[in-house]
Amino acid sequence: MQLEEIRSAIRDVPDFPQKGILFKDITTILNQPEYFKNVINLLYDKVCDNNVDYVAGIESRGFIFGSVLADRLNCGFVPIRKPGKLPAAVHQVEYQLEYGADKLEIHRDAFPEGKNVVIIDDLLATGGTAAAAAELVEKAGGKVIKLLFIIELAFLKGRQKISKYDFHSLIEF
Ligand code: AMP
Repeated sequence: MQLEEIRSAIRDVPDFPQKGILFKDITTILNQPEYFKNVINLLYDKVCDNNVDYVAGIESRGFIFGSVLADRLNCGFVPIRKPGKLPAAVHQVEYQLEYGADKLEIHRDAFPEGKNVVIIDDLLATGGTAAAAAELVEKAGGKVIKLLFIIELAFLKGRQKISKYDFHSLIEF
């Protein structure tokens, strides 16, 4: 399956969750097994030679791709969550949004010191979320070996915020 086919399976939803936002909906990949499998295969190819110890998925769509990828890689999965959701002691990072700020958290004991961690989310927009996730993995003692995205909204220049890391997006818009 070509990337072009996967790209055309992603649904555009205008004005969600607010006016002016063109939402890239990946549920139209998830509900077609051959598309979902292919996306996982493409992600797997990008990190299978990296001695990955853990996949860290960003809430919530990063959980879907990340947990399946972790299973394929035979490694652990770690959730990076919105504040107040993780039950045990956490590290927290606050990051700026276009209007206001947001926070993400990771369990302090998510993995042992020095482990190789791949971070995954469905989409890279301004890069604030991904940069905060990378900071959290480092606070927890992990080594960020790659950030993976299904979609990159290139015009928002999110890659500038994560330029000190190795990263890969499957599809650019
Ligand atoms: P950012 O921090 O600006 O890079 O935003 C990335 C996060 O917001 C990811 O977790 C995405 O799932 C979500 N997101 C931002 N913009 C969109 C969009 N146009 N369509 C779908 N998800 C988006």
